[in-house]
Amino acid sequence: MIGQVQKPLEEILEYLEGKKKIVIIGCGGCATVFHTGGEPEVKEMANTLTREGKEVLAAIAPPFGEFTCYAPWSKKRLSKYRKEIEECDAILMLSCGDGLQTVREFVLEKEYNLTKPIYPGTNPMGHMGGGPTLFKEKCQQCGECELGRVAGICPLTQCAKGLLNGPCGGSQNGKCEVDPEKDCAWILIYERLKKLGELDKLRKPRDPHDWSKVKRPRQLEVSPLEIE
Ligand code: SF4
Ligand code: SF4
Repeated sequence: MIGQVQKPLEEILEYLEGKKKIVIIGCGGCATVFHTGGEPEVKEMANTLTREGKEVLAAIAPPFGEFTCYAPWSKKRLSKYRKEIEECDAILMLSCGDGLQTVREFVLEKEYNLTKPIYPGTNPMGHMGGGPTLFKEKCQQCGECELGRVAGICPLTQCAKGLLNGPCGGSQNGKCEVDPEKDCAWILIYERLKKLGELDKLRKPRDPHDWSKVKRPRQLEVSPLEIE
């Protein structure tokens, strides 16, 4: 999921300065889980903006499970609000940057041929796993997963230096030398490999990590899903 927090209201109001008619769009995916763009947050933002003198033409909160970053869902949901979207002075997105840019490119530009100001209402914090309350960053989407040789613990993400070929040697009592509050990822990897009886994996020569897969922007093509 994309961890995220709401932007300060002052920043949002700064974006919306001089814009009267606003459409708010939330997200039924990560933004609902992180309480930045689910139904309660969309309603609350609509009330706040109304108090600030804005005219909220539509406050759109997709149901839980409906990701705004999936263009077919956004196209379908937003089609009911096309008039409001065309009439508004600005759109405020209570979603992550994926959601905002999906709506901008696939709905506004490609579907409606519309150039409209669209602003973020959240600060995305990266991919995180866990819940229901505590989430942790676990993966940087490097494009070539190493978890099969490191006991399911990502050294790129969990090691403060992102070391892929063993520890730096600075660990003290199992803690990281960069942040003594955190466990050394390589000690965790070693201990888990030991329990699994797979310590020999650390001795095997390996090809260098393929950093070319990190080159941005990345894109993928898949066959489309059937949606109702
Ligand atoms: S190695 Fe780490 S960053 Fe790369 S894909 Fe696997 S979990 Fe993600
Ligand atoms: S002490 Fe461990 S986690 Fe910290 S930087 Fe060194 S190898 Fe990485």
